[in-house]
Amino acid sequence: MSRRYHVTTFGCQMNKADSERMAGILDGMGYTFVEEPNEADLILYNTCTIRENAEHKVYSYLGKQAKRKQQNPNLTLVVAGCMAQQEGEQLLRRVPELDLVMGPQYANQLDSLLEQVFQGNQVVATEPVHILEDITKPRRDSTVTAWVNVIYGCNERCTYCVVPGVRGTEQSRTPEAIVAEMTALGQQGFKEVTLLGQNIDAYGRDLPGSTSDGRHLHTFTDLLHQVHDIEGIDRIRFATSHPRYFTERLIKTCAELPKVCEHFHIPFQSGDNELLKAMSRGYTHEKYRRIIETIRGYMPDASISADAIVGFPGETEEQFENTMILVQDIGFDMLNTAAYSPRPGTPAALWDNQLSEEVKADRLQRLNHLVAQQAEARSQRYAGRLEEVLVEAQNAKDPTQVMGRTRGNRLTFFTGNIDELLGQTVTVRISQVRPFSLSGEIVVPVLV
Ligand code: SF4
Repeated sequence: MSRRYHVTTFGCQMNKADSERMAGILDGMGYTFVEEPNEADLILYNTCTIRENAEHKVYSYLGKQAKRKQQNPNLTLVVAGCMAQQEGEQLLRRVPELDLVMGPQYANQLDSLLEQVFQGNQVVATEPVHILEDITKPRRDSTVTAWVNVIYGCNERCTYCVVPGVRGTEQSRTPEAIVAEMTALGQQGFKEVTLLGQNIDAYGRDLPGSTSDGRHLHTFTDLLHQVHDIEGIDRIRFATSHPRYFTERLIKTCAELPKVCEHFHIPFQSGDNELLKAMSRGYTHEKYRRIIETIRGYMPDASISADAIVGFPGETEEQFENTMILVQDIGFDMLNTAAYSPRPGTPAALWDNQLSEEVKADRLQRLNHLVAQQAEARSQRYAGRLEEVLVEAQNAKDPTQVMGRTRGNRLTFFTGNIDELLGQTVTVRISQVRPFSLSGEIVVPVLV
């Protein structure tokens, strides 16, 4: 009987894309995916370590499966992702039932690592490696939208962030490899691609070659031009941008290229320049504001989302207020907020001006209140409008409805038959707006 596997993913889109590739490898090894983890013969946790609570969650899951393994020694337990990279051997000491601990750079080497496990070894793969070009056939969660990695790792040194330590230095994929993957996706019927990178604006810096005026030969803006005309792909999105490297050239290109959706995810983290310096972010709130103004100059209706941290070591009430003022002034469509969480191996975790959990919780609650008010206000602009929506799935809560997203990345629900509409881009008249999603009625084109 073929062996069955289950993958649980924690964290960001990069992890989701890695999980799809690892699942594809297991499919290729003859495993079968099961929804119910307790029916699986191989359990894989693809982990996150961006904040402490992400780690706690993994250990609670692992505890249960370790008990199962004590009853069933044939169960294979794998921990992958950023927490695996950070903890390495220590994880084996905490959970001796584990068979494989592998960092994110090894995602597309899962099969060869499992071969070592099946020879009776307990394997830890966390040494930095050059990520081999991807030949896996990812098991994608959607048949309409797809993640495509363009650059792995990050060379920045934001003082709160674990990513460079766990995902390694920047490694850009070649434009040819990315074009080949997207061409295949277009032929398979995918309609939308999200290009992924921790710091996507750094794309190409590590690739050889430069232009006569000394620019990098390969930049993210150039890549957008190279992938734009791929047949079958109707929409292109990308994440995550970095204000330090965000250029008007990129903004102009996004405005000119019809397939590039008018949604930008540009984390600012704090609205206070002293804090931005302490975070080693490399820009000021003034520069951030200019970027948003420039985007809105070219695309007045563009959707802007971001990430913000409150309670960073030493943050005063006044500095927190500067974050609130920036949020108030810009008006975000979506803002991911978090209280600062000291992470192992990051400079800020060692500083002695840490704030109390009460102060952090209070500031987070105040910011979230403002964010909800803003999102509600920003959503009003959609009322009564005709929006282009790419249908991605049935509404899990109401089978008479389907759901998809606008070009501005707004989740939209409307009555429709998923068998007829899946993968179709339709026009929807928006009749209901909520802070983070919309509802409406499909507008059936009048055939003349
Ligand atoms: S840019 Fe900064 S916050 Fe983003 S992944 Fe890199 S180090 Fe972390």
